[in-house]
Amino acid sequence: MEQVTPLPWQQTLWAQLVAWRERLPHALLLHGPRGVGKRQLLKAFAQLLLCETAVDDSPCGRCAGCHLWLADNHPDLRWLTPAAQMPERDDAASADAAGDESGELRSASASKTSREIVIDQVRKTGEFLSLTAHRGGRQVVLLIPAEALNGPAANALLKVLEEPPAGSVFLVISDELDAVLPTIRSRCILLSAPVPTAAQALAWLQSRGVDHAATRLAEAGGAPVGIGDESALDDRATLDSATRDVLFTLLGRGPALTGAEVASAVPKDIAVAPAIRLLQRWGWDLLAERLAGRVRYYPQYQRQFATVARALEPKRVVEWAAALAQMQAVSDHPLNGRLVIEGALLSYIDALRTAGTNPPMTAVR
Ligand SMILES: [Zn+2]
Repeated sequence: MEQVTPLPWQQTLWAQLVAWRERLPHALLLHGPRGVGKRQLLKAFAQLLLCETAVDDSPCGRCAGCHLWLADNHPDLRWLTPAAQMPERDDAASADAAGDESGELRSASASKTSREIVIDQVRKTGEFLSLTAHRGGRQVVLLIPAEALNGPAANALLKVLEEPPAGSVFLVISDELDAVLPTIRSRCILLSAPVPTAAQALAWLQSRGVDHAATRLAEAGGAPVGIGDESALDDRATLDSATRDVLFTLLGRGPALTGAEVASAVPKDIAVAPAIRLLQRWGWDLLAERLAGRVRYYPQYQRQFATVARALEPKRVVEWAAALAQMQAVSDHPLNGRLVIEGALLSYIDALRTAGTNPPMTAVR
């Protein structure tokens, strides 16, 4: 695992964590919106806790503890995370930047494994904690995200949290605090994740050399972490492949798509955030096809992009994508998912039709 450092907007909370290091509670729960760097912060803190010669507030990078961390092999660290989310894929900020076209493939194969944290994983974590620390220091469990615990797993974890072994610490992340069992929450110290200002987010993206930083920040609803790293974006997606196929089929119809088709096809329980993300990427691919003749996210639909892009007015698609970003910013709210996505698709039809072309169905007389 690479060495990670706190992000610029996390310095105050970082100082607080560092100050707590010697008298740490047994469980910290960091909650807040996606894309603000929660994983990065707790991973940095985990390394600091496992560093054996930390100076002030940063891990030394040279001791045995740091070497084991960097080798992704520290015996006193455990991940409690869905099988579908490999630890490497959690780190939004450190992976390589733009152009990673293998992200979709990895996402597809990961969907075959569980998106829940299951009881067997919790039991193994309990067994791990029942042993003494190999390196004589702390035992650290990264629980990411807490809302992925299924019912039996959550109950098993409660027992561990009731009597935590000395020296153990759970570092917990939640993107949806409301979805975490109150009994789990009440055993954790809750910390609200710092959210960057627009200027901080933009400056950070630019410092990392992300292209079109302002546009993409808007696309992501102001959450910068993960931009420029498509595998991390995929990591946050939770659409099943059937729903993805439905959306791709609808989008691929272009200006011929009808409101009736939208109303009959969008599933009732669709997950809003990943669905909007898919629509956004579709929009960016349409623009890329139109402006550069090359798509990035969904090359498997090249033929549809070529057809639809021919007649579109780029400005209208940019406006559509901007409206999606606004929806994304509020997508954690308990809205009716189907209504939101239907609305997004209807405005897609609108954006394509005002390009001055009639849909084929009405053009044929
Ligand atoms: Zn060290």
